Amino acid sequence: MMQRKWLVYISVFTYMGLNSSLINAKEYLVDNPQAYMDIAGSLEAGDVVTLADGTWTDFQIAFSGQGTEDSPITLKAETAGKVILTGESNLRLAGEYLLVSGLFFKDGYSPSNAVIEFRQSKTQLANHSRVTQTVVESFNNKEKFSAGNWVALYGRYNRFDHNALVGKSTSGVTMAVKLNTLESQENHHRIDHNYFGQRPILGSNGGETLRIGTSHYSLSNSFTMIENNYFDRCNGEVEIISNKSGSNTIQNNVFFESRGTLTLRHGNGNIVQNNVFFGNGEDHTGGIRVINGDQTIRNNYLEGVTGYRFGSGLTVMNGVPNSKINRYHQVDNANITQNSLINLDHIHFAAGSDAERSAAPINSRFTNNLIVHQENKDGISLFDDVSGIEFDGNIVHNVSDLTIDKGFAVENVELVRAKNGLLYPSNPEFSKTGVDKSLQPIAKQDTGPSWYNKPELSVEFASGKTHQVSPGNNVLYKALQQAQSGDVIELAKGHYVASRTLPIDKVVSFVGKAGVSISFERKSLFVIEDGGSLALKNVVITGADAPDSAGNTLIRNTRLPTINNYRLVMDYVIVKDLDINHSFHVIDSGYRALADEITITNSQFSNITGDVLRLNKEQDDLGIYNAEYVTLDRNVFQDIQGTLMNVYRGGTDESTFGPHVTVTANTIKNVGFGKRNKSKALMTLHGVQVTNILNNTFTNVPAIAIEHTVGEPQTRIQYNHFMGSVEPVVQELFTQGPLTAVVSDNTFSAQ
Ligand code: CA
Repeated sequence: MMQRKWLVYISVFTYMGLNSSLINAKEYLVDNPQAYMDIAGSLEAGDVVTLADGTWTDFQIAFSGQGTEDSPITLKAETAGKVILTGESNLRLAGEYLLVSGLFFKDGYSPSNAVIEFRQSKTQLANHSRVTQTVVESFNNKEKFSAGNWVALYGRYNRFDHNALVGKSTSGVTMAVKLNTLESQENHHRIDHNYFGQRPILGSNGGETLRIGTSHYSLSNSFTMIENNYFDRCNGEVEIISNKSGSNTIQNNVFFESRGTLTLRHGNGNIVQNNVFFGNGEDHTGGIRVINGDQTIRNNYLEGVTGYRFGSGLTVMNGVPNSKINRYHQVDNANITQNSLINLDHIHFAAGSDAERSAAPINSRFTNNLIVHQENKDGISLFDDVSGIEFDGNIVHNVSDLTIDKGFAVENVELVRAKNGLLYPSNPEFSKTGVDKSLQPIAKQDTGPSWYNKPELSVEFASGKTHQVSPGNNVLYKALQQAQSGDVIELAKGHYVASRTLPIDKVVSFVGKAGVSISFERKSLFVIEDGGSLALKNVVITGADAPDSAGNTLIRNTRLPTINNYRLVMDYVIVKDLDINHSFHVIDSGYRALADEITITNSQFSNITGDVLRLNKEQDDLGIYNAEYVTLDRNVFQDIQGTLMNVYRGGTDESTFGPHVTVTANTIKNVGFGKRNKSKALMTLHGVQVTNILNNTFTNVPAIAIEHTVGEPQTRIQYNHFMGSVEPVVQELFTQGPLTAVVSDNTFSAQ
């Protein structure tokens, strides 16, 4: 695109700055990287550099100079949003009073540690500088676990505002405030009016959205203001914001359906006020987690938040006596007041109490908070002595069993939604509890750049066009080539032979009318590529035409690591006769592939020589795994030599909510006894965090093997009937003490 190799030198104009010095300000319009570099070394206060509209590939922008408060040096897009930086691009600022506006980083990646970095070297930092009206969208390194930031704030008095950061799917905090030298501490940065858009589940530690400081410098003050930002489904891991420094203010932000919590992980004297959390009942939505001294949690509104344990709506932690700087400092002098806690499933005090974390909160107050749950519970759990917290003036709606009997009044609280979208008691007598009437949650449209329309990241199944297909030569492949993401390929009655593997690089559904069957002549029928998702409905798939070789697989991921999560859904699918040779598998995950969901319902699988679900490719024990939600409901699995599923999440890291495995109301018969099933188990779940195996009938199957590793895994195996089958085996691999799994109400009989 950048054909022209000139730079336009528009004008020099002279004016008196406010400080009465004579300024010769220049304006440049540049349209290629070399033209920019030619002038970049000589920028002076008041200069304005305009980047021409267009796509700039591999443009690493070093922007430096000494502006002044009255005359900053400006780098801006010719039209905000029309300067698109892609390929290997980044922006690094150094100097004083620099202003950047209107850039759009899209679909490339940074060759350095960050996309936007407020420094050019360890000693060349930016101060008093501002980045605004700028977007970083899906700017992901192909290597998912390469651990870079999108924005790294260094220096002091910088502002990052009205920007959008959307779709970070690689490891590394989306935005980090760095305090690693004295010149970056007590920084007084302002992070405001930003749109923190969707951050997909990472499936590992390192998926935080915003981190302020690190444990190493956490006893330093940061004085960072984080306000009026919108966090939209920031689901990377257990921490949305990880605060690791002192004297920060986090206020007036909205957290919309975001998994995880605002965590006051390290550092003292922080203020968390006027924030709004809308969980909307979504899994693992959390609120605020309190650790350390002198924290104020005031006038926050939380509604419909489901998280538990360290991901609860409100968690007040136990500390470690004389804690090392990277462990848990005791909660001391916390002031938690005037918060509205509406339909919070869990509020945990003295959480994490154990032999190490034995220091319960002290000198703290929990006052004038309003707790309402539609199930007439207070949701409070205590894990240690809470006599170090003074409870006073709190109101709880209609509970018969108060967890804490002092400082809580039980009232009948009727809630009415006010104009600001928040629920308040209709009874004016309760107006001193819960949040203030004046709280105004920031609207999504008031965050991010004015030019940016905040796209949805993921395309829903069946959200596009329908393509009608009848049996014929290569028709599935051709239809797939023509389909767009979201489209449905509808198959007319008849038999289809796939002579080519079908590469799924988009979101696509194959839906059969009655009487549709498919066979395939390659080692796989479907290969899910990066960015692809597959739904199958109402089809019969047979392995009868597959090549006579070992290790065929009906559906597998590409062999290359992928950075986008995928979805795989099967409903009313019959899979049979995957038996032309040994080890013919149904679904085989790739290394560094993560399914947001694998959902199989109302389907039948029979006569198969391999495994059904192989989700065990992350053997490096780094807390990485291959599927977030695995659901098998109302299926029949019969005469299968391999294992039903092998799910592996190794390591002892506690930063993920998953994997989750649900196996309900299935009929499972003669599965798992093939000599190549080395696990000798029907299924092996290693490190799965939430397991529900309910209401199934198991006939002639080996054991269910469950290996608990870290966290507090929730395992239920109930209401199943086992015929000619052994009991499930649950092992605690690391944790001492009694088994936490609930294995009950199962019945056993001979075959
Ligand atoms: Ca983390």
